[in-house]
Amino acid sequence: MARIIDAPLTASDGGGCDPRTVHGTWGRLDAAAKRGLAYTPEVKAKTDALYEKVKHVILPVEWPAYAPLIAAINEMKRAKDAVILAHNYMTSEIFYCVGDFRGDSLQLAREATTTDAKVIVQAGVHFMAETSKILSPDKTVLIPDLRAGCSLAASITGADVRLIKEKFPGVPVVTYVNTSAEVKAESDVTCTSSNAAAVVEWAAREWKTDRVILIPDEYLAKNVAAQTGIKIIAWHGRCEVHERFTAEDVAELRAAHPGVVVLAHPECPPDVMAAADFAGSTAALQHYVEEKRPGKVVLLTECSMSDNVAAAAPDVDFIRPCNLCPHMKRITLEGIYDSLAEMKHEVMIPEDVRVRAKQAIDRMLALPKEKPRAFETGRPAAHVELV
Ligand code: SF4
Repeated sequence: MARIIDAPLTASDGGGCDPRTVHGTWGRLDAAAKRGLAYTPEVKAKTDALYEKVKHVILPVEWPAYAPLIAAINEMKRAKDAVILAHNYMTSEIFYCVGDFRGDSLQLAREATTTDAKVIVQAGVHFMAETSKILSPDKTVLIPDLRAGCSLAASITGADVRLIKEKFPGVPVVTYVNTSAEVKAESDVTCTSSNAAAVVEWAAREWKTDRVILIPDEYLAKNVAAQTGIKIIAWHGRCEVHERFTAEDVAELRAAHPGVVVLAHPECPPDVMAAADFAGSTAALQHYVEEKRPGKVVLLTECSMSDNVAAAAPDVDFIRPCNLCPHMKRITLEGIYDSLAEMKHEVMIPEDVRVRAKQAIDRMLALPKEKPRAFETGRPAAHVELV
Protein backbone atom coordinates (compact mmCIF):
# COMPACT_ATOMS: atom_id res chain seq x y z
CA MET A 1 0.00 0.00 0.00
CA ALA A 2 1.36 3.39 -0.93
CA ARG A 3 2.02 5.82 1.86
CA ILE A 4 -0.21 8.74 0.96
CA ILE A 5 1.17 12.11 1.94
CA ASP A 6 -1.46 14.54 0.86
CA ALA A 7 -0.47 18.05 1.91
CA PRO A 8 0.94 20.25 -0.85
CA LEU A 9 4.71 20.71 -0.87
CA THR A 10 6.17 24.15 -0.62
CA ALA A 11 9.76 24.92 0.14
CA SER A 12 8.70 27.61 2.56
CA ASP A 13 6.51 25.53 4.82
CA GLY A 14 8.17 22.18 4.34
CA GLY A 15 4.76 20.54 4.05
CA GLY A 16 3.72 17.55 1.96
CA CYS A 17 6.35 15.04 0.91
CA ASP A 18 9.02 16.58 3.08
CA PRO A 19 12.31 16.69 1.19
CA ARG A 20 14.08 15.98 4.45
CA THR A 21 12.34 12.62 4.48
CA VAL A 22 12.54 11.96 0.77
CA HIS A 23 16.08 13.02 0.18
CA GLY A 24 17.39 11.54 3.41
CA THR A 25 19.60 14.57 3.99
CA TRP A 26 19.46 14.22 7.73
CA GLY A 27 22.20 11.84 8.73
CA ARG A 28 24.19 12.88 5.64
CA LEU A 29 24.67 16.52 6.57
CA ASP A 30 28.35 15.95 7.24
CA ALA A 31 29.02 14.13 3.94
CA ALA A 32 30.69 17.19 2.39
CA ALA A 33 32.71 18.02 5.53
CA LYS A 34 33.98 14.43 5.72
CA ARG A 35 35.44 14.96 2.27
CA GLY A 36 37.05 18.27 3.19
CA LEU A 37 34.41 20.35 1.37
CA ALA A 38 32.72 23.42 2.82
CA TYR A 39 29.95 25.83 1.86
CA THR A 40 32.15 28.85 1.15
CA PRO A 41 31.14 32.13 -0.55
CA GLU A 42 32.85 30.79 -3.69
CA VAL A 43 30.78 27.60 -3.62
CA LYS A 44 27.64 29.64 -3.00
CA ALA A 45 28.37 31.84 -6.04
CA LYS A 46 28.97 28.75 -8.21
CA THR A 47 25.77 27.02 -7.14
CA ASP A 48 23.18 29.79 -6.59
CA ALA A 49 21.82 29.41 -10.13
CA LEU A 50 21.45 25.65 -9.61
CA TYR A 51 19.49 26.21 -6.42
CA GLU A 52 16.98 28.26 -8.39
CA LYS A 53 16.09 25.07 -10.30
CA VAL A 54 15.33 23.05 -7.19
CA LYS A 55 14.13 25.62 -4.68
CA HIS A 56 10.56 24.29 -4.85
CA VAL A 57 11.62 20.86 -3.61
CA ILE A 58 14.78 21.44 -1.52
CA LEU A 59 14.63 23.50 1.65
CA PRO A 60 17.12 26.40 1.96
CA VAL A 61 18.47 24.80 5.14
CA GLU A 62 19.43 21.68 3.16
CA TRP A 63 21.31 23.49 0.43
CA PRO A 64 24.62 24.12 2.29
CA ALA A 65 24.88 20.33 2.74
CA TYR A 66 24.51 19.69 -0.99
CA ALA A 67 26.20 22.68 -2.63
CA PRO A 68 29.87 21.82 -1.84
CA LEU A 69 29.46 18.32 -3.25
CA ILE A 70 27.64 19.65 -6.32
CA ALA A 71 30.39 22.21 -7.02
CA ALA A 72 33.13 19.60 -6.56
CA ILE A 73 31.38 17.02 -8.76
CA ASN A 74 30.88 19.55 -11.55
CA GLU A 75 34.59 20.47 -11.34
CA MET A 76 35.64 16.83 -11.50
CA LYS A 77 33.40 16.18 -14.50
CA ARG A 78 35.28 18.86 -16.44
CA ALA A 79 38.68 17.63 -15.28
CA LYS A 80 37.98 13.97 -16.09
CA ASP A 81 35.91 14.46 -19.25
CA ALA A 82 32.92 12.79 -17.60
CA VAL A 83 29.17 13.11 -17.97
CA ILE A 84 26.45 12.03 -15.60
CA LEU A 85 23.36 10.26 -16.95
CA ALA A 86 20.60 10.93 -14.43
CA HIS A 87 17.44 8.84 -14.38
CA ASN A 88 14.06 10.41 -13.63
CA TYR A 89 14.03 8.66 -10.24
CA MET A 90 17.12 10.44 -8.96
CA THR A 91 16.60 12.96 -6.20
CA SER A 92 16.42 16.54 -7.45
CA GLU A 93 19.87 17.66 -6.26
CA ILE A 94 21.35 14.94 -8.49
CA PHE A 95 18.84 15.20 -11.32
CA TYR A 96 19.03 18.96 -11.84
CA CYS A 97 22.36 19.96 -10.31
CA VAL A 98 24.93 17.41 -11.54
CA GLY A 99 23.01 15.45 -14.23
CA ASP A 100 24.17 16.27 -17.78
CA PHE A 101 21.57 14.10 -19.46
CA ARG A 102 18.24 13.42 -17.80
CA GLY A 103 15.37 11.15 -18.66
CA ASP A 104 13.96 7.66 -18.70
CA SER A 105 15.85 4.49 -19.62
CA LEU A 106 15.29 4.97 -23.35
CA GLN A 107 16.44 8.59 -23.37
CA LEU A 108 19.55 7.72 -21.35
CA ALA A 109 20.35 4.74 -23.58
CA ARG A 110 20.25 7.05 -26.61
CA GLU A 111 22.43 9.65 -24.87
CA ALA A 112 25.02 7.00 -24.02
CA THR A 113 25.56 6.48 -27.74
CA THR A 114 25.97 10.17 -28.59
CA THR A 115 28.24 11.59 -25.91
CA ASP A 116 31.92 12.14 -26.69
CA ALA A 117 32.91 12.11 -23.03
CA LYS A 118 35.45 9.47 -21.95
CA VAL A 119 33.67 8.65 -18.71
CA ILE A 120 29.98 7.99 -18.01
CA VAL A 121 28.73 8.03 -14.44
CA GLN A 122 25.35 6.34 -14.27
CA ALA A 123 23.09 7.99 -11.75
CA GLY A 124 20.62 5.14 -11.87
CA VAL A 125 20.64 1.42 -11.19
CA HIS A 126 23.04 -1.27 -12.32
CA PHE A 127 21.19 -2.49 -15.42
CA MET A 128 21.25 1.08 -16.75
CA ALA A 129 25.02 1.27 -16.31
CA GLU A 130 25.31 -2.06 -18.12
CA THR A 131 23.22 -0.66 -20.99
CA SER A 132 25.58 2.32 -21.25
CA LYS A 133 28.60 -0.02 -21.31
CA ILE A 134 26.96 -2.27 -23.91
CA LEU A 135 26.45 0.74 -26.18
CA SER A 136 29.73 2.48 -25.39
CA PRO A 137 32.36 -0.23 -24.81
CA ASP A 138 35.29 2.16 -25.21
CA LYS A 139 34.11 4.47 -22.45
CA THR A 140 34.69 4.00 -18.75
CA VAL A 141 31.26 3.47 -17.21
CA LEU A 142 30.95 3.95 -13.45
CA ILE A 143 28.13 3.08 -11.07
CA PRO A 144 28.47 4.92 -7.75
CA ASP A 145 27.02 2.08 -5.68
CA LEU A 146 27.17 -1.59 -6.66
CA ARG A 147 24.14 -2.33 -4.50
CA ALA A 148 21.87 -0.25 -6.77
CA GLY A 149 19.94 -3.20 -8.20
CA CYS A 150 16.35 -3.69 -9.32
CA SER A 151 13.68 -6.22 -8.34
CA LEU A 152 12.76 -6.73 -11.98
CA ALA A 153 16.34 -7.29 -13.12
CA ALA A 154 16.87 -9.71 -10.22
CA SER A 155 13.75 -11.74 -11.11
CA ILE A 156 15.20 -13.46 -14.17
CA THR A 157 18.50 -14.91 -15.46
CA GLY A 158 19.89 -15.78 -18.87
CA ALA A 159 19.28 -19.47 -18.08
CA ASP A 160 15.59 -18.70 -17.43
CA VAL A 161 15.30 -17.05 -20.85
CA ARG A 162 16.93 -20.05 -22.54
CA LEU A 163 14.33 -22.32 -20.91
CA ILE A 164 11.48 -20.03 -22.04
CA LYS A 165 12.84 -20.10 -25.61
CA GLU A 166 12.99 -23.92 -25.51
CA LYS A 167 9.36 -23.99 -24.41
CA PHE A 168 8.19 -21.53 -27.08
CA PRO A 169 10.47 -22.02 -30.10
CA GLY A 170 10.15 -19.40 -32.82
CA VAL A 171 8.26 -16.91 -30.63
CA PRO A 172 10.08 -13.55 -30.50
CA VAL A 173 11.52 -12.51 -27.14
CA VAL A 174 10.96 -8.86 -26.23
CA THR A 175 12.83 -7.95 -23.06
CA TYR A 176 12.28 -4.91 -20.90
CA VAL A 177 15.50 -2.94 -20.46
CA ASN A 178 15.21 -3.47 -16.70
CA THR A 179 17.26 -6.67 -17.02
CA SER A 180 20.88 -7.76 -16.84
CA ALA A 181 23.18 -7.85 -19.87
CA GLU A 182 23.07 -11.66 -19.91
CA VAL A 183 19.25 -11.60 -20.15
CA LYS A 184 19.36 -9.02 -22.95
CA ALA A 185 21.91 -11.23 -24.72
CA GLU A 186 19.33 -14.04 -24.90
CA SER A 187 16.65 -11.71 -26.31
CA ASP A 188 15.60 -10.66 -29.80
CA VAL A 189 14.85 -7.05 -28.98
CA THR A 190 14.58 -4.82 -25.91
CA CYS A 191 11.89 -2.32 -25.01
CA THR A 192 11.23 0.36 -22.43
CA SER A 193 7.93 1.48 -20.94
CA SER A 194 7.99 4.30 -23.53
CA ASN A 195 7.88 1.95 -26.48
CA ALA A 196 6.82 -1.48 -25.13
CA ALA A 197 3.54 -1.66 -27.08
CA ALA A 198 5.22 -0.42 -30.29
CA VAL A 199 8.08 -2.96 -29.98
CA VAL A 200 5.68 -5.85 -29.28
CA GLU A 201 3.59 -4.90 -32.34
CA TRP A 202 6.77 -4.64 -34.42
CA ALA A 203 8.01 -8.07 -33.22
CA ALA A 204 4.64 -9.67 -34.05
CA ARG A 205 4.82 -8.20 -37.58
CA GLU A 206 8.49 -9.13 -38.15
CA TRP A 207 8.09 -12.71 -36.90
CA LYS A 208 4.64 -13.01 -38.54
CA THR A 209 3.09 -14.29 -35.34
CA ASP A 210 0.24 -13.40 -33.01
CA ARG A 211 2.27 -14.42 -29.92
CA VAL A 212 5.15 -12.52 -28.33
CA ILE A 213 7.20 -13.25 -25.21
CA LEU A 214 7.44 -10.06 -23.10
CA ILE A 215 9.61 -10.43 -20.00
CA PRO A 216 10.17 -9.99 -17.08
CA ASP A 217 7.48 -7.57 -15.77
CA GLU A 218 4.16 -9.37 -15.35
CA TYR A 219 2.18 -6.14 -15.02
CA LEU A 220 3.81 -4.40 -17.98
CA ALA A 221 3.05 -7.56 -20.00
CA LYS A 222 -0.61 -7.51 -18.95
CA ASN A 223 -0.89 -3.79 -19.67
CA VAL A 224 0.71 -4.18 -23.12
CA ALA A 225 -1.58 -7.13 -23.87
CA ALA A 226 -4.60 -4.92 -23.04
CA GLN A 227 -3.30 -2.21 -25.41
CA THR A 228 -2.27 -4.35 -28.35
CA GLY A 229 -4.55 -7.40 -28.35
CA ILE A 230 -1.43 -9.52 -29.02
CA LYS A 231 -1.16 -12.80 -27.09
CA ILE A 232 1.60 -12.30 -24.55
CA ILE A 233 3.71 -14.90 -22.79
CA ALA A 234 4.97 -13.33 -19.57
CA TRP A 235 7.30 -13.84 -16.62
CA HIS A 236 6.39 -13.24 -12.98
CA GLY A 237 8.77 -10.34 -12.25
CA ARG A 238 7.42 -7.25 -10.52
CA CYS A 239 8.72 -3.78 -9.75
CA GLU A 240 8.69 -3.58 -5.97
CA VAL A 241 7.80 0.12 -6.13
CA HIS A 242 4.89 0.08 -8.58
CA GLU A 243 3.30 -3.19 -7.46
CA ARG A 244 2.42 -1.51 -4.15
CA PHE A 245 -0.10 0.87 -5.73
CA THR A 246 -3.68 -0.37 -5.59
CA ALA A 247 -7.02 0.61 -7.10
CA GLU A 248 -8.11 1.38 -3.52
CA ASP A 249 -5.29 3.96 -3.33
CA VAL A 250 -6.72 5.63 -6.44
CA ALA A 251 -10.24 5.67 -4.94
CA GLU A 252 -8.90 7.14 -1.68
CA LEU A 253 -6.96 9.81 -3.57
CA ARG A 254 -9.99 10.82 -5.60
CA ALA A 255 -12.16 11.00 -2.46
CA ALA A 256 -9.59 13.07 -0.56
CA HIS A 257 -8.70 15.33 -3.49
CA PRO A 258 -11.72 16.01 -5.72
CA GLY A 259 -10.65 16.86 -9.26
CA VAL A 260 -7.18 15.31 -8.96
CA VAL A 261 -5.78 13.93 -12.23
CA VAL A 262 -4.32 10.45 -11.66
CA LEU A 263 -1.31 9.44 -13.78
CA ALA A 264 0.05 5.88 -13.59
CA HIS A 265 3.20 4.12 -14.77
CA PRO A 266 2.65 0.86 -16.72
CA GLU A 267 4.60 -1.17 -14.14
CA CYS A 268 1.50 -0.65 -11.94
CA PRO A 269 -1.11 -3.44 -11.67
CA PRO A 270 -3.79 -3.43 -14.42
CA ASP A 271 -6.61 -2.39 -12.06
CA VAL A 272 -4.57 0.71 -11.14
CA MET A 273 -4.08 1.50 -14.83
CA ALA A 274 -7.81 1.06 -15.42
CA ALA A 275 -8.61 3.50 -12.60
CA ALA A 276 -6.12 6.17 -13.75
CA ASP A 277 -6.84 9.12 -16.06
CA PHE A 278 -3.63 8.71 -18.05
CA ALA A 279 -0.84 6.16 -18.12
CA GLY A 280 2.60 5.98 -19.67
CA SER A 281 6.33 5.89 -19.10
CA THR A 282 8.04 8.45 -16.90
CA ALA A 283 8.71 10.53 -20.03
CA ALA A 284 5.04 10.33 -21.06
CA LEU A 285 3.92 11.36 -17.56
CA GLN A 286 6.29 14.31 -17.61
CA HIS A 287 5.08 15.42 -21.06
CA TYR A 288 1.49 15.16 -19.86
CA VAL A 289 2.11 17.51 -16.92
CA GLU A 290 4.14 19.94 -19.05
CA GLU A 291 1.52 20.10 -21.79
CA LYS A 292 -1.78 19.84 -19.89
CA ARG A 293 -0.78 21.66 -16.68
CA PRO A 294 -3.48 19.99 -14.57
CA GLY A 295 -4.48 21.98 -11.49
CA LYS A 296 -3.93 19.03 -9.17
CA VAL A 297 -2.13 15.83 -10.10
CA VAL A 298 -0.84 12.61 -8.59
CA LEU A 299 1.89 10.50 -10.20
CA LEU A 300 1.66 6.81 -9.31
CA THR A 301 5.34 6.11 -9.70
CA GLU A 302 8.59 6.53 -7.78
CA CYS A 303 8.65 9.42 -5.31
CA SER A 304 11.52 11.44 -6.76
CA MET A 305 9.85 11.55 -10.16
CA SER A 306 7.13 13.74 -8.62
CA ASP A 307 9.79 15.99 -7.09
CA ASN A 308 11.56 16.41 -10.43
CA VAL A 309 8.39 17.15 -12.38
CA ALA A 310 7.20 19.46 -9.59
CA ALA A 311 10.45 21.41 -9.69
CA ALA A 312 9.75 22.25 -13.34
CA ALA A 313 6.01 22.88 -12.83
CA PRO A 314 5.65 24.93 -9.64
CA ASP A 315 2.14 26.05 -10.65
CA VAL A 316 0.83 22.45 -10.46
CA ASP A 317 -0.34 21.05 -7.12
CA PHE A 318 1.25 17.63 -6.65
CA ILE A 319 -0.33 15.06 -4.33
CA ARG A 320 2.39 12.67 -3.28
CA PRO A 321 1.93 8.97 -2.73
CA CYS A 322 5.47 8.30 -1.60
CA ASN A 323 6.87 4.97 -2.79
CA LEU A 324 10.66 5.18 -2.88
CA CYS A 325 12.86 2.80 -4.86
CA PRO A 326 15.49 1.68 -2.33
CA HIS A 327 17.85 0.79 -5.19
CA MET A 328 17.66 4.18 -6.86
CA LYS A 329 18.18 5.80 -3.47
CA ARG A 330 21.57 4.06 -3.14
CA ILE A 331 22.80 6.74 -5.53
CA THR A 332 23.71 9.85 -3.55
CA LEU A 333 25.73 12.99 -4.19
CA GLU A 334 28.54 11.74 -1.96
CA GLY A 335 28.50 8.38 -3.77
CA ILE A 336 28.85 10.17 -7.11
CA TYR A 337 31.66 12.30 -5.69
CA ASP A 338 33.55 9.21 -4.43
CA SER A 339 32.90 7.40 -7.68
CA LEU A 340 34.48 10.16 -9.75
CA ALA A 341 37.29 10.86 -7.28
CA GLU A 342 38.36 7.20 -7.10
CA MET A 343 37.05 6.15 -10.57
CA LYS A 344 34.97 3.37 -9.01
CA HIS A 345 32.97 1.11 -9.61
CA GLU A 346 33.73 0.33 -13.21
CA VAL A 347 31.11 -1.75 -15.04
CA MET A 348 32.56 -4.61 -17.11
CA ILE A 349 30.70 -7.06 -19.36
CA PRO A 350 32.14 -10.13 -21.13
CA GLU A 351 32.53 -9.19 -24.81
CA ASP A 352 30.46 -12.08 -26.20
CA VAL A 353 27.57 -11.16 -23.89
CA ARG A 354 27.93 -7.47 -24.73
CA VAL A 355 27.81 -8.05 -28.48
CA ARG A 356 24.66 -10.18 -28.29
CA ALA A 357 22.96 -7.79 -25.86
CA LYS A 358 23.82 -4.88 -28.15
CA GLN A 359 22.03 -6.55 -31.07
CA ALA A 360 18.82 -6.60 -29.02
CA ILE A 361 19.21 -2.97 -27.96
CA ASP A 362 20.20 -1.83 -31.46
CA ARG A 363 17.02 -3.35 -32.88
CA MET A 364 15.02 -1.23 -30.46
CA LEU A 365 17.02 1.93 -31.16
CA ALA A 366 16.64 1.43 -34.93
CA LEU A 367 12.83 1.60 -34.70
CA PRO A 368 11.35 4.96 -35.72
CA LYS A 369 11.75 7.48 -32.92
CA GLU A 370 8.30 8.38 -31.68
CA LYS A 371 6.78 10.31 -28.82
CA PRO A 372 6.49 8.08 -25.71
CA ARG A 373 3.28 6.17 -26.33
CA ALA A 374 0.49 6.62 -23.79
CA PHE A 375 -1.42 3.59 -22.49
CA GLU A 376 -5.16 4.02 -22.91
CA THR A 377 -6.73 3.79 -19.46
CA GLY A 378 -10.05 2.14 -18.58
CA ARG A 379 -9.43 -0.89 -20.79
CA PRO A 380 -10.58 -4.34 -19.61
CA ALA A 381 -7.84 -6.60 -18.21
CA ALA A 382 -6.15 -8.91 -20.72
CA HIS A 383 -5.05 -12.48 -20.11
CA VAL A 384 -1.36 -13.38 -20.43
CA GLU A 385 0.27 -16.82 -20.30
CA LEU A 386 2.61 -16.85 -17.31
CA VAL A 387 5.66 -19.13 -17.41
S1 SF4 B 1 11.62 1.57 -9.52
FE1 SF4 B 1 11.18 -0.62 -9.81
S2 SF4 B 1 11.86 -1.05 -11.92
FE2 SF4 B 1 12.82 0.90 -11.30
S3 SF4 B 1 14.82 0.32 -10.44
FE3 SF4 B 1 13.38 0.42 -8.71
S4 SF4 B 1 12.67 -1.72 -8.48
FE4 SF4 B 1 13.59 -1.55 -10.54
